[in-house]
Amino acid sequence: MISCAAAKSLQAILMPRARPQKRTLLTPRSIYAFLDQHVVGQERAKRVLAVAAYGHVRRCGLPPERKGQIRKSNVLLIGPTGSGKTHLVRMLSLVLDVPLSIADATEYTEAGYYGKDVEQMVAELLHRANHSVAEAQRGIIFLDEIDKLARRTQSYKTGGGTRDIGGEGVQQSLLKVLEGRELLVPASLSPQPGRQDVVQVDTSDILFVAAGTFADLFERERPSSRIGFGDKEQVSHSRELSTEDLLGYGMLSELLGRLPVRVQLAPLSEDDLCQILAGPNDALLSEYQTLLALDQVQADFSDGALREIAQAALRQGLGARSLRGLCEQVCHDLLFEAPERRGQRIVIDEQYVRARVG
Ligand code: ADP
Repeated sequence: MISCAAAKSLQAILMPRARPQKRTLLTPRSIYAFLDQHVVGQERAKRVLAVAAYGHVRRCGLPPERKGQIRKSNVLLIGPTGSGKTHLVRMLSLVLDVPLSIADATEYTEAGYYGKDVEQMVAELLHRANHSVAEAQRGIIFLDEIDKLARRTQSYKTGGGTRDIGGEGVQQSLLKVLEGRELLVPASLSPQPGRQDVVQVDTSDILFVAAGTFADLFERERPSSRIGFGDKEQVSHSRELSTEDLLGYGMLSELLGRLPVRVQLAPLSEDDLCQILAGPNDALLSEYQTLLALDQVQADFSDGALREIAQAALRQGLGARSLRGLCEQVCHDLLFEAPERRGQRIVIDEQYVRARVG
């Protein structure tokens, strides 16, 4: 959840609209501070991304002949579902004030097959940049589910798949986007039949963030003692993955080489989830409280209620992704009845939550 007002006010301080020179006012510390305001936990990822983003900003400001001196800091984020990989990158694009496009690696196929070509990924960024090539060229592409692509390559190599439409071929074609090339990309996301205008986009300065759970690499060390009756199996993410692990998983070494900044995210803890629900910034529950307050209903959530929701989210194994659905379940009756309960103060405690979340 993005607090637009907060993001905009910070941008106004850090980067007045006189761009691009003023963008260099950002520092790793100020980028980190912004991420820290909006992303709970994930300290290391916030620091690493802040440094990578700072390098990106510095590099974008260099004249073309000097760009080769600083290596592109493309990032690989490894972390469980709902741990904040996408959220981190969204916040990063806000603080850098650059366009962001979010792509799903599984939608891409080798050129000539049904599915998206990698050029489409850049076209989507161009679309996000309101068709400004200059803006798109310094934007961020977030490519989720990169592990699924690697898995397909691996299963093809080991004879598990019939045709490697989404695996190695796509990884190969991603190389040209990552390393920085002039690409001809479709000017429109929905071209007229029989007509395809193209635009030349240089990908040298596009910051590329790939992400995946690589869950199978962790599942082998799953501690059975942590699995409760009826709960989703929990994957231990305590181990630091090595380059060999990722290569063995099916990632091409050339692709890994172009993702030099690698960081692992930890699963969010119960405390982290409580903070996402009710912490000082972007708190999820305050959205519901505001909605109810419009009907003059005051809803107060007890600490026990927060813990109960956080524990339910942990049981579902989808990290913070479950929180919104759980809040909907908890607040549904209240939202339905609010106009008739005008003027009331309602305390939502753990029994209230348990009765609705099961
Ligand atoms: P992932 O990409 O790791 O699967 P997301 O970033 O999409 O997870 O998380 C889903 C939602 O949960 C986000 O949109 C955000 O609202 C919330 N969220 C996840 N992680 C965090 C976090 N660390 N801090 C604050 N909110 C978070």
